[in-house]
Amino acid sequence: MAGDGKKIDPTWRTQTKLVRGGLGRSEYRETAEAIYMTSGFVYDSAEDAENAFNGSTDRYIYTRYGNPTVTTFQKRMCLLEGAENCTATSSGMSAVFYSLLALLRAGDRLVASKALFGSCDYIVSELLPRYGVETELVSGTNIEQWERALTKPTQAVFVETPSNPTLEIIDLPKVAELTHAAGAKLVVDNVVATPILQKPLKLGADVVIYSATKHIDGQGRALAGAILGTQEYYDECLQPFIRHTGPSCSPFNAWLMLKGLETLELRVERHCRNTIAVAHWLEKQHGIDKVIYPGLQSHPQYDIAKKQMNDSGSVLSFQLEGGKKRAFSVLNALRMIDISNNLGDTKSIVTHPATTTHQRLTPEGRGELGITDGLVRLSVGLEDPQDIKDDLAQALAR
Ligand SMILES: *Cc1c(COP(=O)(O)O)cnc(C)c1O
Repeated sequence: MAGDGKKIDPTWRTQTKLVRGGLGRSEYRETAEAIYMTSGFVYDSAEDAENAFNGSTDRYIYTRYGNPTVTTFQKRMCLLEGAENCTATSSGMSAVFYSLLALLRAGDRLVASKALFGSCDYIVSELLPRYGVETELVSGTNIEQWERALTKPTQAVFVETPSNPTLEIIDLPKVAELTHAAGAKLVVDNVVATPILQKPLKLGADVVIYSATKHIDGQGRALAGAILGTQEYYDECLQPFIRHTGPSCSPFNAWLMLKGLETLELRVERHCRNTIAVAHWLEKQHGIDKVIYPGLQSHPQYDIAKKQMNDSGSVLSFQLEGGKKRAFSVLNALRMIDISNNLGDTKSIVTHPATTTHQRLTPEGRGELGITDGLVRLSVGLEDPQDIKDDLAQALAR
């Protein structure tokens, strides 16, 4: 097992936790976190192996169950989120899927907000019902719909806030209160907000999930996910499930995510600064019906965003006059900003949700969510904001 690191001081501020949290140095006293790129671990004797398996000694057995580099990533995430436990996963989607599966069984009921990332919607609307879970979707910003849906006994509630790509903000303390009154656990997909800008556990959530692929890596290199919650949730719900089904995070990817965490706060602050500058500028351009960003006073849930988020994030959407044809011509005219479906990357990225991430929905379904044919999602990167505006200006001028 990794040897003693310097002691973690619980009073450390966020940026210190991000640089040093969870560090456990080996006998070689390396500066950076070591990568334990191994599938298994060896025993000194048959008795050692027996004791490891019957739980009388606590040690690494097999990377599907645990690995020192993955543990370092998990500890650092716990410190950042203020959670008792973190389980790293192979991707954000495996984090979403397992966080919910661990809470639900056939005959149970799940209530979720409608405005979900495409694959999250697939899990809630198609996969879970196949295994006998009843799911109900509500408009996440409408408290009356939550109240009505949560009058029936429910086991799990799932929300994404801000939602991807329409950036709806859900009132987390209010929904948490209704969730608990219905006897359910609240699972929050906090990907768009990042762990720097919003702390769902402090706002009443029971479980938080991340796609670490997004801002935590933030440099477009690897996939990973994380599920954070209480030790009780891990011991009773998640652990028995996950240990035997194997959505484990690769030690190499965990190491990349550790390196990403070291600069997460710096990057997110700069992302926010660039994004608000681009959002204000876009609001003044011709041929745009609306700009959607929680940091703009025109956002319908601006006040809730102000209350539960420290800043407004790196994703904005805008609706072009002229539908799909105009959206495609603007995307195709961009010289620097990439067309891709990642977000939270150092590179600015645009997508046309109606024909990519949300293509699977019916036109009516997209309409209900505000994903129109003219809607473009922009993940604002860390380039100079003037260059981002210049590229958008020349594309919009075509
Ligand atoms: C990207 C994303 C996911 C899925 O994460 P992967 O790492 O791509 O599996 C889940 N939720 C939201 C909101 C996302 O943006």
